[in-house]
Amino acid sequence: MTLNVLVCGLGPAGRALAHRCLIRGLSVAVVDPAPKRSWTATYAAWADELPVWLDRRIIAATVDRPIARGIRTHHIDRRYAVLDTERLRESLDIAGAEVYTDRAIALTRDGVTLASGAVLRAERVIDARGLARSPSRAEQTAYGIVVDADRCAGMTSLFMDWCLDNGAPAEAPRSFLYAVPLGQDSMLLEETCLAGRPALGPTELADRLHQRLRARGIPVGGSERVERVRFPVTGGRPGRFRFGAAGGFIHQATGYSVAAALTAADTVAAGDSPWPPKSRVVHGLREAGLRALLTLPPADLPIFFDAFFDLPPELQRAYLSGRTDATGTISAMRTLFARLPRPLQIRIAAATLRLPVSERGRRGSSMME
Ligand SMILES: Cc1cc2nc3c(=O)[nH]c(=O)nc-3n(C[C@H](O)[C@H](O)[C@H](O)COP(=O)(O)OP(=O)(O)OC[C@H]3O[C@@H](n4cnc5c(N)ncnc54)[C@H](O)[C@@H]3O)c2cc1C
Repeated sequence: MTLNVLVCGLGPAGRALAHRCLIRGLSVAVVDPAPKRSWTATYAAWADELPVWLDRRIIAATVDRPIARGIRTHHIDRRYAVLDTERLRESLDIAGAEVYTDRAIALTRDGVTLASGAVLRAERVIDARGLARSPSRAEQTAYGIVVDADRCAGMTSLFMDWCLDNGAPAEAPRSFLYAVPLGQDSMLLEETCLAGRPALGPTELADRLHQRLRARGIPVGGSERVERVRFPVTGGRPGRFRFGAAGGFIHQATGYSVAAALTAADTVAAGDSPWPPKSRVVHGLREAGLRALLTLPPADLPIFFDAFFDLPPELQRAYLSGRTDATGTISAMRTLFARLPRPLQIRIAAATLRLPVSERGRRGSSMME
């Protein structure tokens, strides 16, 4: 009997899709070189982004009003959820799927050739193999440590803090502090390079994190669990038969994709396209947003994010979340643009229209073309 769906790749996207296909009663096979691999990354999302079917016990901690800091401090009126990644993996149950521990090396719409030489057939083949690194792809990088909560007494949860107490020279590419609870007992403190081509490396980010924590009086012993982050934020190709990072689900300006993939899993399981025309418009707009970010000089980033977090919550949400609100995304970008100082407007307009930036503008460029 021909399989209904064959999913290649068992990251958050592929596993969510296989799980939702099984829930629909479809016959499913999955291919991954390490299907039982634990997930160690700390995933998070805005709580309102998570689909209703998702078991809420996968949430490790929530933050009601996380803080964003540019030059000023903003309380974001939106609940942020830090996920228990291993529980998330377990909750996306794929019992009932045929599991192939192998690599998919050639994919067509109805068949896959595996590295072992086997050929599998299905009515639909979905590529959820993630994205490979490439010098042409902007990446997000971060270096984090997990610290006992009692050592962080007085520290609030930070969605992003661009404060320059990390020892980086004012003209150097910027990074920000991300600080979230992982539960009652511990916090993840992470120095993050939002996007760069190339992005800041782990040694630089670790130095900055330690300098920052020293400046804030948070003791670090050296034996803390370390989280290293490096993944491309560009490069996926939207399409009906690709899903997750491979299918262009990564929000280019934030790096988030997990909640978007969880939400779209039912659409794809039903055989529908996750790319209605409005999604393609939103994708293009966010790509322009990333180009703008990459072109801003370091000192302008806190100003840019102050203006962003001054936007009404519904416009912030339209830009950060969902994949189909083209009107809201345009409105967020227009309102933000109108509120920026003139020099930033010029630079962003040039980046959006792909016009060259002057030599003077290039010097000290933060997130590096
Ligand atoms: C430390 C860290 C923290 C992060 N935090 C967040 C966050 O808070 N929120 C968020 O939204 N995103 C976060 N991200 C980004 C997020 O990890 C990725 O966007 C997400 O994993 C993409 O999911 P995916 O399933 O599409 O691809 P991947 O997670 O890359 O999974 C791809 C899967 O395909 C398999 N595979 C690869 N090649 C083949 C092949 N040839 N054949 C078969 N299988 C193959 C791989 O083994 C893997 O299991 C973080 C990333 C890191 C590294």
